[in-house]
Amino acid sequence: MIGCDCAVCHSSDPRDQRLRSSIYLQTPECAWVVDTGADFRTQALRENIRHLDAVVFTHAHTDHIMGFDDLRRYSHKLGSLPVYASAETMRALERVYEFAFNGLNRFPGYLIPVPHIVNGSFWLGKTLLTPLPVPHGNSFVNGYLFSRKDVNLIAYLCDCSAVPDEIVGQIRQVRLLIIDALRPKPHPTHLSVSQALEVASRVQPGRTLFTHICHELPQSAETELPEGVGIAYDGLKVRF
Ligand SMILES: [Zn+2]
Ligand SMILES: [Zn+2]
Ligand SMILES: [Zn+2]
Repeated sequence: MIGCDCAVCHSSDPRDQRLRSSIYLQTPECAWVVDTGADFRTQALRENIRHLDAVVFTHAHTDHIMGFDDLRRYSHKLGSLPVYASAETMRALERVYEFAFNGLNRFPGYLIPVPHIVNGSFWLGKTLLTPLPVPHGNSFVNGYLFSRKDVNLIAYLCDCSAVPDEIVGQIRQVRLLIIDALRPKPHPTHLSVSQALEVASRVQPGRTLFTHICHELPQSAETELPEGVGIAYDGLKVRF
């Protein structure tokens, strides 16, 4: 948090230094990123990400889209880059990054986004992505379920204020649940720690990781969480 003197902002644990929420998925066939927040460039440099076959968006809040322009590096290699988002999120991307989508005055090698509106499940290589619309305050956000060979591997619900029963049914016993847990105190558009734990108890995943954490939740709080529940941190890698 800019200009904050709290214990987490001044923590000596490097895991307490957090950039905007995002995940990068690598499979034998292809690789993609979910969301490109303002820290996307920093994250891609840190993780030495050389290749992207697609980009998938959850929603158009600034902490999830403001690194979009840096996708130019990947479009340059492929010629164009498939962009997956709900119709509402795509409209926002096309408005904010009108210069990328309109095709006019294109700088040679600049990003050529190819919109794909997400209306249901779709494939990236041999991974099936199923959108999971969840409330985020007054709006809806697409979480995503990632499945391979009919096994539900990851449910990614980075921004949500509730998880309806229908969505819980779709992701029950997923191997890894990555879920919004902003802070201990309730918040109008994000789950609190206890609310996220309540969702996890309904989903019964193999493992739960909290994400989209603010400076009111130190990494050290992980020791107080139930078994199988952890706090994700920048650079964390999970292998299946
Ligand atoms: Zn702080
Ligand atoms: Zn949001
Ligand atoms: Zn967010």
